[in-house]
Amino acid sequence: MKFYITTPIYYVNAKPHLGHAYTTLAADVIARWRRLKGDDAFFLTGTDEHGAKVAEAASAAGQEPQTFADEVAGEFQQAWKNLNIEYSDFIRTTEPRHEKGVMAFLEVLKKNNALYEGEYRGLYCTGCENFITEKELVDGLCPAHKKKPQEVAEKNWFFKLSKYLAPVRRLINSDKLKIGPDSAKKEALGLLKQGLADFSVSREKVKWGIALPWDKSQTVYVWVDALLNYITARGYPNLSPGAWPADLQLMSKDILKFHAIYWPAMLLAAGLEPERELFAHGYFSINGQKMSKSLGNIIDPNDLVKEYGADGARYLILSQFPFGQDGDIKVEKFKEQYNADLANGIGNLASRVSNLIEKNFDGAFTKKEPRASSKDFDALLAENRIDEALKSVVEGFRELDKKIDREKLWSLVKEDKAKAGKILSDIANEILALAQKLAPVLPQTAQKIIKQFSAKQIKKGESLFPRK
Ligand SMILES: [Zn+2]
Repeated sequence: MKFYITTPIYYVNAKPHLGHAYTTLAADVIARWRRLKGDDAFFLTGTDEHGAKVAEAASAAGQEPQTFADEVAGEFQQAWKNLNIEYSDFIRTTEPRHEKGVMAFLEVLKKNNALYEGEYRGLYCTGCENFITEKELVDGLCPAHKKKPQEVAEKNWFFKLSKYLAPVRRLINSDKLKIGPDSAKKEALGLLKQGLADFSVSREKVKWGIALPWDKSQTVYVWVDALLNYITARGYPNLSPGAWPADLQLMSKDILKFHAIYWPAMLLAAGLEPERELFAHGYFSINGQKMSKSLGNIIDPNDLVKEYGADGARYLILSQFPFGQDGDIKVEKFKEQYNADLANGIGNLASRVSNLIEKNFDGAFTKKEPRASSKDFDALLAENRIDEALKSVVEGFRELDKKIDREKLWSLVKEDKAKAGKILSDIANEILALAQKLAPVLPQTAQKIIKQFSAKQIKKGESLFPRK
């Protein structure tokens, strides 16, 4: 079965941080799990490189926007490599394949009578890359950026969103466009109830962008430009069969409106199918505070990889709190958790068991046919409950550890070798089964365990997770 999963593309105005890593790792886990099940999973991520915000960041760095974007896009790719993220494609919105697709899409919208020319007057925050209303200001400033918005009056091309609100509501209500978790679905339906204004698809003031094909004084609104990556990466306007729609689009809940309403509306207007499922994960705070540059508490995923290895970092990032809810990360607990769950948990168990088998049974045990993957585990991942799936595996290893203690295997091998051998074989088979489940989340560790326990002669080997 084909399966197409995406992350949002990330703005290159800042380096990759924990938030980017969280979404991208979640997508990687689901894509890897699908591939292990035999699906043909396509996993897309990338970078969003146009717009005033990027141009400003480039100018602050004394660089041309393209040079700046090249550099930061490279940092994203490196961070994903360090975290052992296996994407199928990495799209950049400054690539010709994307720019061509965006122009073709806007021509289709115009031809389908979904666009009109109008004048927009309003307050614009370059930090948000969006218009902001008086009501949203705090002391005259954008609350997110503590910046005074600019007064803007300009000619824009508008998208007739109003025409598509009812069809989009029907899609969401009927779960033809499935939105998870429930809180996100409710939020999207609430926004639709409120009614949303037509939005402009072009900007006159923003120079760093894709020119509108029929009006070169305008560039494509950066959000429209960005959303289209999901189809341009698949070859739009020449989509091959099965390349669209996306089966699952992951994001943080702050950009739900764009993905749950604007995006399906744009697709309908262009005569394309809407995406099948959206899943919005929550926000996280660091030690009770919002992660921000000014607080200096931004976590660089590369630092976690340096400290705990790729699998250790993957585990720590994904296991903090339920996927889909808000949560707080206590950085000082990372080490404790790493030691408890990985070094003294999975790692110690593998070494205990392999040691007992090597010393007492010449490194051999009675292998069973590997079980088909567990239904419960698959059901959790099918519902994007990544943290729970992961927890169930770690718990499985912990149970085996308890079993060794309960049966006092180290003395049982001396008293009743046959019985100890049978129990050890069961445990070793169970370890192999758990390693299969672990593979999408901790791929390197799973591979090492499988290799170790599938060997003709099992040896204790190096520890999987050195204690910190
Ligand atoms: Zn702002």
